Amino acid sequence: MAWFKREKKPIENPTPVDERRVRTEGLWIKCSSCRLTIWKKDLEANWEVCPKCEHHFRLDARRRLDLLLDDGRWIEHDADLASSNPLRFTDTKPYEKRLEDARNRLGMKDAIITAEGLLNGRSVICCSMEFGFIGGSMGAVVGEKAARAVERSVAQGQPLIIVSCSGGARMMEGVVSLMQLAKVAAALGRLDAARLPYISVLTDPTTGGVTASYAMLGDLNIAEPGALIGFAGPRVIEQTIRQKLPDGFQRAEFLLDHGFLDAVVPRRDLKPYIARSLDFFLQ
Ligand SMILES: [Zn+2]
Repeated sequence: MAWFKREKKPIENPTPVDERRVRTEGLWIKCSSCRLTIWKKDLEANWEVCPKCEHHFRLDARRRLDLLLDDGRWIEHDADLASSNPLRFTDTKPYEKRLEDARNRLGMKDAIITAEGLLNGRSVICCSMEFGFIGGSMGAVVGEKAARAVERSVAQGQPLIIVSCSGGARMMEGVVSLMQLAKVAAALGRLDAARLPYISVLTDPTTGGVTASYAMLGDLNIAEPGALIGFAGPRVIEQTIRQKLPDGFQRAEFLLDHGFLDAVVPRRDLKPYIARSLDFFLQ
C-alpha cells in the first residue's frame, strides 16, 4: 500500500468546462488607437467612432448609406451585376471561390452599393464601397456600377456622392479593372459638362486605382480623419525615391496640408457638411 493515497474523489465539475465559460467574446472591442475597451453596442451607436479618442473605425457600405441618407432609406440600383471572371484567374484560391465567399458573407454581389435617396430632403445618387468584399477592390462590376450611377446622375439631374473605401484595382481582373478607371472618369466628365456637383468622400483606406481615378476627381474631395489615402504604398515610394518618408505621410491630415484634399470632416459632421456643400453648389 502506498504511503499516501487520495481516497476521496476529486470535486466534480457541476457543468462541463465549455458551458461554464461566460460568453463575452465579440461583445467588446479594443480601440486600436487609444487601447480603450469599448462595448461593441456603444461603438455601433456612435457610428463606429471611438468615444474617447475619436478614432474612426471602418463603417460598412450599408451603414454608410444609413448615415448619409434620410431615415436610412434608399433604393439600390444594379444590385444584380456580378463578375463573370473574365480571366479565369486563380491564385491561392480560384477567383470564383473568393467571389462566392464574399457574396455569402456580405449578401452583396460586388464591392459597391449604388443607391438613390434623400440627403436633407435633396434627391441624390450615393455610392458606397465595401472594404469587406475583396478589399473593396474595383473590378469590372464596381466600375460599371459606378459609371452607371454617374450616368443616372446626369440623366436625372441629381448630384453625386461616392464614398470610397478600397485597396485599388482588382488584381484578379487585370487589365479589365484598369479599364474602369477611364470609363468612370469619362462618365464624370459628362457629369461635369452637365454642371452637376460630385462630392468624393475618401475613407480609410482609399488607395491604388480608386485614388487614381474617381476618388480624386470630385468637385470637393473630402476625407475622414486619419484615413489612409495614397496611390502606391509607402515602402514602394521609399525604395523608388530613396528617401525616408515624413511622419503621417498618406494620412488625410497630411494630404490636406499639402493641398490634395479640400477638407477633413469627422463622421458625425459628414452629412451636414455634404448638405451645406450641395446647397452652395446648387444655389
Ligand atoms: Zn480610441
